[in-house]
Amino acid sequence: MDNEQLIRRDLSVLWHPCTQMKDHEALPPVPVRRAQGAWLEDFDGRRYLDAVSSWWVNLFGHCNPYINAALREQLDTLEHVLLAGFSHAPAVELAERLLRIVPPGLARCFYADNGSSAVEVALKMSFHYWRNRGEHGRTRFINLSNSYHGETLGALALGDVALYKETYRPLLLEPLTVPSPDCFLREPGQSWEAHSRAMFRHMEEALARHAGSVCAVIVEPLVQCAGHMRMYHPVYLELLRAACDRHGVHLIADEIAVGFGRTGTMFACEQAGIRPDFLCLSKGLTGGYLPLSVVLTTDAVYGTFYDDYASLRAFLHSHSYTGNPLGCRAALATLDLFERDPVIADNRRRAARMAQAVADLADHPHVAEVRQTGMILAIEMIRDKARREPYPWQERRGLAVYRHALSRGVLLRPLGNVIYFMPPYVVTDEEIDLMAAVAAEGIDLATRP
Ligand SMILES: *Cc1c(COP(=O)(O)O)cnc(C)c1O
Repeated sequence: MDNEQLIRRDLSVLWHPCTQMKDHEALPPVPVRRAQGAWLEDFDGRRYLDAVSSWWVNLFGHCNPYINAALREQLDTLEHVLLAGFSHAPAVELAERLLRIVPPGLARCFYADNGSSAVEVALKMSFHYWRNRGEHGRTRFINLSNSYHGETLGALALGDVALYKETYRPLLLEPLTVPSPDCFLREPGQSWEAHSRAMFRHMEEALARHAGSVCAVIVEPLVQCAGHMRMYHPVYLELLRAACDRHGVHLIADEIAVGFGRTGTMFACEQAGIRPDFLCLSKGLTGGYLPLSVVLTTDAVYGTFYDDYASLRAFLHSHSYTGNPLGCRAALATLDLFERDPVIADNRRRAARMAQAVADLADHPHVAEVRQTGMILAIEMIRDKARREPYPWQERRGLAVYRHALSRGVLLRPLGNVIYFMPPYVVTDEEIDLMAAVAAEGIDLATRP
């Protein structure tokens, strides 16, 4: 089999995610035969550096020998069993170990099998908690502008990326949307902290006005990844935790993308010293191997559901593959790697190298900003830097960068006009320099008049 054959077969049977399939007439999908470390290889032997961790999931490289071995062993022991009425060691051990490393105060783990489902679980649990307490008037959620929480209808409703949401609006819950503390929008000369702090007044107002009808506030801590990698200061989370307590509403932290070291700490909430009422994890949870997610919550929440069956307070939510043993085992192996090696400390050096590798781009006439939070670095292209006028989305400048990078053997997958690096934690200095060089060339090409 070669590339061409696989592409032909693919295009006659598959419908790809998040894709206008007609685009593939001009640019076919890249058929990947195998992968190793940070590199993907196609059927013709061409290699691509996976600078986006295969959509932000991979942490320790593809076909990591340690995770592979753990999975092989699990495969010959127990592949799957239902988790209702039954239990298994990987699910129990993973819950125990997660509870030891998340912010203190979280005490219960509820599994699901993808990020969107974890968000749905958190929304339903929060709503149901208030009902269990007799507060039937709590039916609303507060979210941030430019947020993203997944694609299923509940999660989609709580996001605010028009491109994904607009078409389906008649089907969706209506959240109370508060302006994001996104620091790209700060005044010239203003610090991230000052901007994020100032933006909190909108949240305070919304909570003051609506607290009695609100179940929870949902946020992506520190980085709005799908919303063009926009970033904000931890002070916002600190203020938000205090305000949620003051107004008596839940805080849901969607760390599906930013968890497991992406922001420079194991969990982004740590940088604000806060504990959410619900913590949603997925993506990196299994090291990028298998679909699994988990919602962690407090004993206070769990306690309102715990009663005689006839009270009908139970959380009767499930997915067929809830807590799948292979997924849990991959997650345990991933946690082993965090314990075995000083990953977070080593990443500080990698993050500094990324910053250094793109430092020159800040002065590029069509780069509005180079921003970074830990292992996430983003470069925002702009038409008119002085007037802050963006390129129209129809021009698809990011796509030009994507095509150039592929021709140079690097997988960059810009979000609109934003090019970003979110590499696996095995990336070397040379690979970082390659990513940066290819991004710089791509930006030059894409921003030519
Ligand atoms: C990816 C993502 C989700 C959705 O996860 P899926 O597994 O793709 O359903 C939710 N929230 C955030 C912040 C994400 O980045």
